[in-house]
Amino acid sequence: MDMALLKRLIYCIINLIKNNMKSALITGITGQDGAYLAKDLISKGYKVYGTVRRSSTPKLGRLSLLGIQTKIDFIPLEITEFSNVFYTIKDIKPDLIFNLAAQTFVEVSFKHPILTTEINYIGTLNLLEAIKITGVKSKMYQASTSEMYGEVLSKPQNEKTPFNPRSPYAVSKAAAHYLVSNYREAYGIEASTGILFNHESEIRGREFVTRKISYQLAEIINGRDIPIQLGNLNSVRDWGYAPDFVKAMYLIINHKPDDFVVSTNKTTTVRDFFKLCAVNAGLKPEFVGDGINEKCYDRISSKIICEVNKKYYRPSDVDYLQGDYSKINKELGWSPDNDIQVIAEKMVRFDLDVLAGKVNNFGI
Ligand code: GDP
Repeated sequence: MDMALLKRLIYCIINLIKNNMKSALITGITGQDGAYLAKDLISKGYKVYGTVRRSSTPKLGRLSLLGIQTKIDFIPLEITEFSNVFYTIKDIKPDLIFNLAAQTFVEVSFKHPILTTEINYIGTLNLLEAIKITGVKSKMYQASTSEMYGEVLSKPQNEKTPFNPRSPYAVSKAAAHYLVSNYREAYGIEASTGILFNHESEIRGREFVTRKISYQLAEIINGRDIPIQLGNLNSVRDWGYAPDFVKAMYLIINHKPDDFVVSTNKTTTVRDFFKLCAVNAGLKPEFVGDGINEKCYDRISSKIICEVNKKYYRPSDVDYLQGDYSKINKELGWSPDNDIQVIAEKMVRFDLDVLAGKVNNFGI
């Protein structure tokens, strides 16, 4: 067989395989969860489409760090524009749609409540409408959040616990959550939600408290003198590991449409997470004082390594979250693999390696 013919044959076979691959569209692919999920889906043989906002230069650092940047088909998409969402869904007809695009930072939602609502609520509505009108057979996963429980009405929280949101972010997510169940009931759309409790990792954004702590402690180990400034140290979270949680997303979307809590059912205060990280960084942390005057000393160097700063208090905060994940455990066999000790250790190790120049974090 001549060489040109052989090349054409190989090209045709590759295209045939590509066209028969299952496909997944991930909105918010450049975020922590989007990146881990894309990696999992690629390893399962999916063709992955990732949406990036038209208006901004995409931040592809996380995808580069995970070594998958070149394996994704990027689609420019502004999720708040219905026609843009409509034609994207109509053209791609993905088997799976993961809606992870969101303004996810609670503090910012107090400053930009309208933007937060447009992205988180209207964006979800646009996707559901596009699925409804085009009639595509896509299954959809909606990223719901434990923040919807807000000032919690019972402990621990499960799928039946009423929502009591305490920020524009939480309100927008609760509204989007109700939309998903409404479109499921009203139009039979195969849409599910995962109510994910806080989930962290080495590639978490540095504005979230866990990564703020791990990264800034690594800076202190590298000679920084200014103590880390934190807000509410008494806040209690149920922190899990993001790579464990994206596995739950895949199980949820492939199950019959429903809602599932994804969590660890273990609680830790911000103060205790700080201590865990500081010990992992080789320090001897001790907190003294109360309220705004509370400080943490490193008993090895006698330096103050953390102070409370009012600037980081929220107009209204969520003080306690603890998720009961027994439904997903019973029905889908999911449970978390990594506990808070392991998470703190991994995050501190990564940030120490980054600052020592041993790892390229691509600016994450
Ligand atoms: P959230 O649960 O989605 O708001 O995740 P965050 O990581 O942003 O915040 C978790 C908790 O840590 C909240 O109760 C915050 O009020 C509290 N917290 C205390 N100090 C800080 C801080 O300096 N930054 C952030 N982001 N949160 C802080």
